[in-house]
Amino acid sequence: MEFKNQSVLITGGNRGIGLATARLFAQAGARVAIVGRDADAGSAALRTLRDALFIQADVTRAADCQRAVDETARAFGALHILFNNAGIILRNRNVETTTEAEWDATLDTNVKSVFLMSRAALPHLRAAGGGAIINTASYVGLVGFPGLAAYAASKGAVVNLTRAMALDHAPENIRVNCICPGSVETDMIHHAWELYGDVTQAARVWADKHPLKRIASPEEIARVVLFLASDAASFITGAALPVDGGITAG
Ligand code: NDP
Repeated sequence: MEFKNQSVLITGGNRGIGLATARLFAQAGARVAIVGRDADAGSAALRTLRDALFIQADVTRAADCQRAVDETARAFGALHILFNNAGIILRNRNVETTTEAEWDATLDTNVKSVFLMSRAALPHLRAAGGGAIINTASYVGLVGFPGLAAYAASKGAVVNLTRAMALDHAPENIRVNCICPGSVETDMIHHAWELYGDVTQAARVWADKHPLKRIASPEEIARVVLFLASDAASFITGAALPVDGGITAG
């Protein structure tokens, strides 16, 4: 897949799935801007990417999202692809044990950010004659999961926001899809294993939840993002694609 002369903006691009995706896009010739709050992680990420841009921004804030999009478009001359990937998770919380602040933080980071970033980016995608938006949902956006009330609500919302945006912007040649990953080996999963207690045992338990009996590497998720952004997916819009080792097949 080639992305020469394409520019890509990736939220949560300084770590994990976002950084793996930034690397693949850069290797495929794209100009890449990554967004996150942690400037140290941003600098470290930039050292592994050629000609990329790090923009320190909080995706829960409208002004930050507008600035991130504007800086990217100014630096690269256009914006073609938006990967809304930043996210947080609160574990071991049902609706009774989730505070209002935790609920708001989860929904703001995982859903409102998709609205704010997409709203800022759409005029640029339209000006480029079309483009692609890919959102990171989760398999927990397709099925329920105990102890993840706010997270499951947020990822379910990302799935249906994806569909609504796909319908709204199809006439403008802007495709909107989301990925629904199973467990992926990033800091997010390592924190879950630490919460579990015995990290080695937790790794086995997490792997066993997936019919393929393992979790994914960030690169396995990144490859699907590039596919959805590419012309190979030119007739795909409004899809919520499980990338979950079969976990939602049962
Ligand atoms: P990480 O915890 O490794 O990375 C999360 C990223 O989101 C970081 O780059 C972080 O940057 C960024 N982020 C969080 N909050 C904000 C904010 N307010 N403003 C800007 N950036 C923010 O997680 P993953 O790479 O694993 O997760 C990426 C996405 O994939 C998330 O949406 C997650 O829900 C989803 N996902 C992950 C799975 C997994 O098993 N790992 C499974 C299914 C879905 P910073 O801290 O610098 O702000």
